[in-house]
Amino acid sequence: MQYFSLNKTAPDVDFKEAAVRGQAPDKGLYFPRRIPTVEKEIINNITNFSKEELAFRIMLPYVGTAIPEKVLYQIVSETIDFPFPLVPITENISSLELFHGPTMAFKDVGARFMSRCLGYFSRGQDKKVTVLVATSGDTGGAVANGFLGVEGVEVIILYPSGKVSPVQELQLTTCGQNITALEVKGSFDDCQAMVKDAFMDADLNAHYSLTSANSINVARWLPQQLYYFFAYQQWPNQQELPVVAVPSGNFGNICAGLLAQASGLPVKHFIAACNVNDAVPEYLRTGSYQPKKAVATVSNAMDVGSPSNFIRVMELFHNDHTDISKHLSGYTVSDAVTEQTIAGVFNRYHYVLDPHGAVAYHALADYLYTHPGMKGMILETAHPVKFPETVSAATGKEVTVPPEAQYLFSRKKQRIVMEPSFSGLKEWLLQR
Ligand SMILES: *Cc1c(COP(=O)(O)O)cnc(C)c1O
Repeated sequence: MQYFSLNKTAPDVDFKEAAVRGQAPDKGLYFPRRIPTVEKEIINNITNFSKEELAFRIMLPYVGTAIPEKVLYQIVSETIDFPFPLVPITENISSLELFHGPTMAFKDVGARFMSRCLGYFSRGQDKKVTVLVATSGDTGGAVANGFLGVEGVEVIILYPSGKVSPVQELQLTTCGQNITALEVKGSFDDCQAMVKDAFMDADLNAHYSLTSANSINVARWLPQQLYYFFAYQQWPNQQELPVVAVPSGNFGNICAGLLAQASGLPVKHFIAACNVNDAVPEYLRTGSYQPKKAVATVSNAMDVGSPSNFIRVMELFHNDHTDISKHLSGYTVSDAVTEQTIAGVFNRYHYVLDPHGAVAYHALADYLYTHPGMKGMILETAHPVKFPETVSAATGKEVTVPPEAQYLFSRKKQRIVMEPSFSGLKEWLLQR
């Protein structure tokens, strides 16, 4: 498979180069030259495939010859080595739970796939690859866990002091081995600015082979398609297709779903469920796209004013607003409604939503109300324990830490505290 830059002024590259570079030299996002067709044989007999076999068959055309088939099979098998259950909440709404991975958020799949691909590509290289990443919460944990113990790669994570939840901080700071956490006495924007400066710095680039692990990397973006295939495997009525509501921030996840649909996966309709950071729903309503400044909300993993993957959604539909609108609707959900939804769904159906899943639930319920006879699912992107304050305030109950996460609390937190300045980061990187 060849990938082209959406800025159209950089040469095409294969999967390896797209994954290693992250972004094209002209700063564009990489996009596959052609969209592969998933064979009818797979779609019509989807329940006969194991999830490993299915994942391998879906990813193979995107990876091409960059990774030998045997190795790719191993990589996808390790990537999806946990359940993705579709759990009914009401008669018409189910929840595809994407939080059963090691860090309890859906980003595990992308991070695990990417880390194993980079691990493979760095074999036989004498210079270690250093992944530098800024996080507002979930990305850092998924990346840390995904890269833990991967040979030839080290990870340095910058996170804003006091702005990530306790479970998220434990996930970032207790890995050890090839993972180092830096607690920055500033905001997420400070962390991101420090990382950006590091990538531009000549001295650091001479010492380190730096790469990023953000969601625009094709190796993180593309495997997210798998959720939608796993959902279809479990969808009870393959004649009556599901409406799929996706809590969206940077639009990587939903764009992967739209790509899966374009390659042949049957889906009735997609819903982009956003908090008040709603540049895309606004575009869907009006036809005019205006990136905004991000506003803080209770569904903070979606506090994105200018979603980086929206340009890929546009490419998929040839920038045609009419065509996009046929496949995708957008909803804006306030914090108050998000909290009411968590409370209402808990009281009525005894299902605990996290704030991101609640945004999707409200959007889907609204859509189904105006489209009677349809059924759908939400993607539940994080475990409620990652957002304990909001969830327990809404349900009136403590959120219980699942047994898989208990171990975190017995681990020792290790991090280096740093001022929010690039010069401090640079000095530390050059002296270690
Ligand atoms: C990252 C994240 C999102 C947003 O996903 P995008 O692919 O950026 O749209 C939604 N929910 C949770 C819990 C997340 O961590």
